[in-house]
Amino acid sequence: MKRVIIAGSGNAALCAGIAAIEQGASVVLLEKADEAMAGGNTKYTAGAMRFAYSSGDDLMPLLKDPDDPKLSLTDFGSYTQEKFAADLLGFNAGRPLSEEQKALVKDSYETVKWLASHEVKFQPIYARQSFEKEGRHVFWGGLTLASDNEGVGLFDQELAAFKRLGGEIRYDCAVTQLLSKEGVITGVQTSSGETLRADAVILACGGFEASESLRQKHIGPNWDKAKVRGTPHNTGDGLVMARAQGAAEYGLYAGCHATPMDLYMKNFGNLDLPPGERKKYRKICYFLGVMLNARGERFVDEGINFRNYTYAQFGAAIMDQPEHFAWQIFDAKVFDLLYDEYRFHDAHFVQADTLPELIALLDGVDKDAAAQTLEAYNAAVRSDVPFDPTVLDGKGTQGLTLAKSNWAQTLSRGPFRAYPVTGGITFTYGGLKVDDTGAVLAKNGAPIAGLFACGELVGGVFFNGYPGGSGLTSGAVFGRRSGMGAAS
Ligand SMILES: Cc1cc2nc3c(=O)[nH]c(=O)nc-3n(C[C@H](O)[C@H](O)[C@H](O)COP(=O)(O)OP(=O)(O)OC[C@H]3O[C@@H](n4cnc5c(N)ncnc54)[C@H](O)[C@@H]3O)c2cc1C
Repeated sequence: MKRVIIAGSGNAALCAGIAAIEQGASVVLLEKADEAMAGGNTKYTAGAMRFAYSSGDDLMPLLKDPDDPKLSLTDFGSYTQEKFAADLLGFNAGRPLSEEQKALVKDSYETVKWLASHEVKFQPIYARQSFEKEGRHVFWGGLTLASDNEGVGLFDQELAAFKRLGGEIRYDCAVTQLLSKEGVITGVQTSSGETLRADAVILACGGFEASESLRQKHIGPNWDKAKVRGTPHNTGDGLVMARAQGAAEYGLYAGCHATPMDLYMKNFGNLDLPPGERKKYRKICYFLGVMLNARGERFVDEGINFRNYTYAQFGAAIMDQPEHFAWQIFDAKVFDLLYDEYRFHDAHFVQADTLPELIALLDGVDKDAAAQTLEAYNAAVRSDVPFDPTVLDGKGTQGLTLAKSNWAQTLSRGPFRAYPVTGGITFTYGGLKVDDTGAVLAKNGAPIAGLFACGELVGGVFFNGYPGGSGLTSGAVFGRRSGMGAAS
């Protein structure tokens, strides 16, 4: 029986573990964090997974509650492989689809179905991904399901499946070094000083988003100041250890997923918050208003696309602004449409009855310039197009150098609110090159015998952005693949 060691215990590691055991291997997961913090970024997610499907019928085998009567009033539409591929391509800044992206699209549905076959079940994301239209729940944007009980539920269900199959997990046990003999990986050294032998090692220990120095080195000098939305433990250990074995770097190291976050959140994510509150420091309803930087200027087209196609880039856009902050500004017309995160008990905002009074409250902002920007914005909003947040409504601005393309409404009805935000890094895009068995490739293009990688560590999957929900699917697709590869 092959012995496989996996570094990490997030979604990618658990998918790798389940797949390796299915192939007959004995598997031990070594996790750097303690038991409460195991599960990495996976636990901080909403558990949303993006995959291609032909119709609502494809979703039924994945659901925890396929008999829910609400389903008969729900339109899931379809999300074809072509559409998923086109969505990824839209973030590639002119690059063709990479091999990794093609694999992600092609294997996405089969992999989620495989998870469901291991009793990992999902729920429709009614609250964030559907709107009510003529008595029906209409999904938009191709993202329809999230794990029951979000990321924690995904982790719990996957860990239960892994343990049911006989998998073992050790906590407080970081992999600190890969051991090799004549170019073949033979095991690992751990933080407790143990040497563990293995026929194959799978690195599933995340990207380098929690390392200030690696962020500064690869993404930019200001990035030490970014908030980290998830675990403090993903400090690039896997990349460093693999490079020491001659692994090639691959993918866009300067790229990362980063979203607008409450300026006053803690430096790392909050697993101590109850489920449902963990993502409440995020602030991604900018498409319903405008964002101003310290110069009092808008700096992105807030309505260029549905927010799940823009939120992963706008964190970096904020980091690029002077002092790395912005204010999101809304009027009373949209308060009811703002996500719950804007009503979170620890959401920071200022409120005033008039726009000039609000501007006076915007700390750190050039007030005259802000007033001019908002006046010009209000004057440029098209009044001849109805506002409709369920579609790209074309209600844009006219004549501004930086347009707002959709959902542009005047800031005119008091009270007015402004939320201070900064950039929070979710995960990094640069990683290792793997072949189609998940084996890590060396600089000469040959696989490093006995070394595999998956999850955030796989480069080439995302470049200038990502359609929401693709990260977990990528972890599952490449995790399953590496588990099969390592066990074979
Ligand atoms: C706040 C937040 C929300 C998100 N929401 C979504 C979402 O809804 N949908 C989606 O698709 N994606 C989402 N993502 C992205 C998603 O979390 C990641 O793409 C995915 O979870 C990464 O899985 P992974 O298994 O590669 O890494 P992780 O889940 O981060 O697991 C890596 C593990 O490795 C451990 N580790 C690190 N170094 C070592 C070492 N040396 N030895 C042993 N163990 C080590 C870490 O402690 C961690 O447990 C979100 C991310 C965050 C932070």
